[in-house]
Amino acid sequence: KTTETLNEKDKSDISFKDVAGLHEVKDELQEIIDFINNSEKYVKMGAKVPNGILFHGPPGTGKTLLAKAVAGETNSTFLYSSGSEFVEKYVGVGAKRVRSLFERAKKESPTIIFIDEIDAIGSKRNSDSNNEKDQTLNQLLVEMDGFHKSSTIIVIGATNRLDLLDEALLRPGRFDRHIYVGNPNIKSRTEILSVHTKNKPVDSSVNINDLAKKTHGFSGAQLANIANEAAIIAVRNKKKLIGIDEFNSAIERVVAGLEVKNPSVL
Ligand code: ATP
Repeated sequence: KTTETLNEKDKSDISFKDVAGLHEVKDELQEIIDFINNSEKYVKMGAKVPNGILFHGPPGTGKTLLAKAVAGETNSTFLYSSGSEFVEKYVGVGAKRVRSLFERAKKESPTIIFIDEIDAIGSKRNSDSNNEKDQTLNQLLVEMDGFHKSSTIIVIGATNRLDLLDEALLRPGRFDRHIYVGNPNIKSRTEILSVHTKNKPVDSSVNINDLAKKTHGFSGAQLANIANEAAIIAVRNKKKLIGIDEFNSAIERVVAGLEVKNPSVL
């Protein structure tokens, strides 16, 4: 996930056109993009550019993809990290990693820092504030409070569990914008399936709308997976084009995977 779409300079080549559906979310993010692209305009007006945005919602709905798209749309450096990377046995190690992440972000500004699974470091603190996780979270708060005016850094956190997060993290000046990224509706499912079949030889008899109808409750990641599985099955079946049989088998496979992992989804 960290390297697939990044070149050696950590610039993102993902843009909004790669993110299907999620229209309201993209509208909301346009404002953030304008902040980054025209920060002087806002600074002149005395407005503070937001430091942190929190994406919350079920897994596989495109949170990472959206963060990369914000970086791509603003030609910002994209620094990916996962909350779990900061959780260490030795006190101070996580905090040190947070510090160096922000140092790098400042050097390469404008920067989008993406912290996936932010609940791993951002869950509610204990009363004795000495353990490793608390120190890491405290360091993150210090860094977010101390952004220099001269550098544009926006931290995007992602979580499936907004309810677990420490309130200190959600205060103004920190992650004060919360954006829900949910499972796609039928229109968005059609768009996501279209994006992921765009460069594949799909039989003209396949109706993407019908596939979208059949995949109620699926996430964007699962829809992307269906398109990929269908292509793999077509190769196995020695087909020149991906037909409806391949898509149906792919849906069955993804459903079977879901049943094994999480019976309650169905
Ligand atoms: P997690 O919470 O598990 O980290 P996530 O919400 O960050 O998941 P992504 O990693 O962004 O989800 O999505 C996984 C993959 O699913 C993407 O790389 C993309 O291929 C596909 N995908 C998800 N949502 C969309 C979308 N709206 N448009 C196009 N592709 C999508």
